[in-house]
Amino acid sequence: MDINYTPEDEIFRADVQEFLAAELPKDLSDKVKAGQKLDGEDFMRWQRILGKKGWLAPRWPQEHGGCGWTAMQVNIYDEEAYVAGAPRVLPFGVNMVGPVIIEFGNEAQKVQHLPGIVRGEVAWCQGFSEPGSGSDLASLKTSAVRDGDHYVVNGQKIWTSYAHFSDWMFCLVRTDPKAPKKQQGISFLLVDMKTPGITVRPIITFDGMHSVNEVFLENVRVPAENLVGEENKGWDYAKFLLGNERTGIAGVGGCKAEFQKLLEIARTEKKNGKPLIEDPLFAAKIARLEIDLRALELTNMRMLSGSGSGLNGAFPSVLKVKGTEVQQRIAELQMDAVGTHALPWQQAAMDPAWNGDTVGPDYAIPRMPAYIDRRKATIYGGTTEIQKTIISKALLG
Ligand SMILES: Cc1cc2nc3c(=O)[nH]c(=O)nc-3n(C[C@H](O)[C@H](O)[C@H](O)COP(=O)(O)OP(=O)(O)OC[C@H]3O[C@@H](n4cnc5c(N)ncnc54)[C@H](O)[C@@H]3O)c2cc1C
Repeated sequence: MDINYTPEDEIFRADVQEFLAAELPKDLSDKVKAGQKLDGEDFMRWQRILGKKGWLAPRWPQEHGGCGWTAMQVNIYDEEAYVAGAPRVLPFGVNMVGPVIIEFGNEAQKVQHLPGIVRGEVAWCQGFSEPGSGSDLASLKTSAVRDGDHYVVNGQKIWTSYAHFSDWMFCLVRTDPKAPKKQQGISFLLVDMKTPGITVRPIITFDGMHSVNEVFLENVRVPAENLVGEENKGWDYAKFLLGNERTGIAGVGGCKAEFQKLLEIARTEKKNGKPLIEDPLFAAKIARLEIDLRALELTNMRMLSGSGSGLNGAFPSVLKVKGTEVQQRIAELQMDAVGTHALPWQQAAMDPAWNGDTVGPDYAIPRMPAYIDRRKATIYGGTTEIQKTIISKALLG
């Protein structure tokens, strides 16, 4: 593929910049740039703005409200959105369940769910993992028993990101406990989070934030028409979804914006009276990181453009492993660059309403929580160990 930007790409970039300058609310970009907490309404407000513009689903077919952008355009949009400080688009609707409904859902499900997703009006969460069923996802136990025109669902989900403000959850459930292989007895259900019997409990993570939850399902009656595709074929749809999830996790646009932030900090901080960026050891670490970031970007563009078929089914896993490693190394170097000022844990300063004094420069405040937060990236969406197994099976047989 040609990796140079064409004059049309540059016109597109100017359009994106103009849109962001006009439509991205300043209070949101201020929060994002300062590394402050975003609440559900912050995420959804930005998604509604993108949805109104018709820019929320770059990879969806145009007939369903997608943008039909080229790989280069997707890359340009991501780059500009992160530089401008746009909140990231939560992937659960647009990148995960949306494509599953487009590919495997029936007409009624498409009509009911796709417009709300593509307009950014409906928030979704992913009910896959359970206590004891993370990497070994096919061992999941949440049961769905047919009762007339409903399924009755009982069980527990865990690590359910953003369940606390989601309207719907796509959920893997066991519909045939006697199936000869555990993968064969699983179905894919769409669950309205307002259904009686659902309880969401927060899990507060190490960095003091609330994004993940436990979800308890007790005799939850889900209309049978909310089954996607065929009963007991949910594993196939889940694998399709996980490929999209893992590709998205690489987050190249975000990596590039965070890398720029790293450069700014390294130019500002001093070592032996000189800018840190001139320190040969630090500069060498930055150079190595930049090479890996460029390689990640190219791999992502090969994936988006459909070239590089040699990687077969391994592509999303390669992107997930390398992308999350790069994210962690950027966060680590940002923290190193800030030095001891990254150590005080001023959690209150992460709140937009806080106006007290900070120990070091403002950019030091979110460095430690960001470093801690990124540890999770090599776990969610399937751990690095599991991705390496998938890559080796796909490439080595
Ligand atoms: C922040 C966060 C958000 C998440 N959000 C969601 C969500 O929204 N929805 C959802 O459904 N899930 C979510 N998850 C769950 C996530 O997908 C699981 O945590 C992940 O799949 C790992 O499962 P586990 O935590 O049970 O770890 P385990 O499977 O218990 O793994 C523990 C360790 O053992 C290793 N291991 C396990 N099996 C093997 C093997 N066969 N070979 C080699 N090593 C192995 C793992 O790599 C890991 O290092 C989230 C997780 C996190 C941390």
